[in-house]
Amino acid sequence: MSHVFPRHCHAQLPTAVGGEGVWLIDSEGRRYLDGSGGAAVSCLGHGDRQVTEAVKAQLDKLAFAHTGFLTSEPAEALADLLIAHAPGDLDRVYFVSGGSEATEAAIKLARQYWVEKGQPQRSRLIARRQSYHGNTIGALSAGGNEWRRQQFGPLLLDVSHIDPCYEYRDRQEGETPQEYGIRAAEALREEIERVGPETVMAFIAEPVVGATAGALAPAPGYYQRIREICDEYGILLILDEVMCGMGRTGSLFACEQDGVNPDILCIAKGLGAGYQPIGAMLCSAAVYDAIAQGSGFFQHGHTYIGHPVATAAGLAVVSAILDRDLLSRIRQKGEVLQTALEARFGQHPNVGDIRGRGLFRGIEIVADRDSKAPFDPDRKIAARLKKAAFAKGLICYPMSGTIDGQHGDHVLLAPPFIITDEEIAILVDCLDAAMQEVLGAAE
Ligand code: PLP
Repeated sequence: MSHVFPRHCHAQLPTAVGGEGVWLIDSEGRRYLDGSGGAAVSCLGHGDRQVTEAVKAQLDKLAFAHTGFLTSEPAEALADLLIAHAPGDLDRVYFVSGGSEATEAAIKLARQYWVEKGQPQRSRLIARRQSYHGNTIGALSAGGNEWRRQQFGPLLLDVSHIDPCYEYRDRQEGETPQEYGIRAAEALREEIERVGPETVMAFIAEPVVGATAGALAPAPGYYQRIREICDEYGILLILDEVMCGMGRTGSLFACEQDGVNPDILCIAKGLGAGYQPIGAMLCSAAVYDAIAQGSGFFQHGHTYIGHPVATAAGLAVVSAILDRDLLSRIRQKGEVLQTALEARFGQHPNVGDIRGRGLFRGIEIVADRDSKAPFDPDRKIAARLKKAAFAKGLICYPMSGTIDGQHGDHVLLAPPFIITDEEIAILVDCLDAAMQEVLGAAE
């Protein structure tokens, strides 16, 4: 009997024993194509020697030094590299161990910023429905996924949730994508006015929504208008690129493609590429200075922040992305994947939308293409697709929508950046076989 506490208590999981490129191997010798990189984690694939050597070398040199006393060479070098490529005036990097820690730190930094600025009445966070920012209490409060929040309601912070930018579902007839983008962004202004501008501290959003909406990119102009509204009311903009960042969408930071600069930016997953648990929160000089010139102490911290081995892994990963010119590869292979998905599923009666950027792609599953009605949640389409794909040797990331069943099911694909055309074809074949098993064949 296993003593590991698994996510699904009754699941009998195969034991992973190895990884090679885009493949994972279990103890029975079965091979699985890692079509979602875990959940957008394994961006360099498995067994990348440059990263494993960097991790081993750092372990031999220095495993740990507490950041209350000492910094370390890899943490300094990784911060320098990230800031050299970061959008806007992001100037400081706060290392953590994962995505929830990054968003949790961002929420606390935003709050402390306003306390230091002498505006302690600013404590309200505005976020979006159908979003995910992590599973710790603050991060979960920010997230808009009802299924994840449901039983923790009494513990959660009072966060406002506005509608996401969801062109496939919400753009009206006759409205251009740009017009829709502006209209969707104006929901932020309405909420600020509703709750009182003087009480709002920050707005948080994922530039390209991952887990809860399946690679949902914003309409053109959405984030520019969001930035304008934040500036107008003096509100901090926090972008959560935990899933969509680190090259996943074809630019090192996803927000670069929307011409928007955040005050605080969260990254994780692809930063360590699975070789080490690491995340980071980047903030602007103005935010940092408010603390540095105020109390001089960010009232936050965890034992493992800035871990030397984790930052050494992150340094090797980001260097690999940049030095191997993986960003252009992501854009190119992303087009190959999108084209293959459209060719295979474009006419499928249960495929409503195929979308995304770079190697971050989503398929929205619907019961009816014309009405866009989702499947009844009781049919558990996402869970069945996940199981069927896994049985056929494909790891992908099907998720069902909110608990009210409003937006149904989708499949998220986020394969390693090294995926080849042949492997993309295998991925699409396996997914097709799973779709046929669960939904029937496309005509
Ligand atoms: N933010 C986003 C956008 C995510 O997708 C996730 C995880 O899926 C998180 C935060 C939480 O990250 P972690 O699971 O590393 O705590």
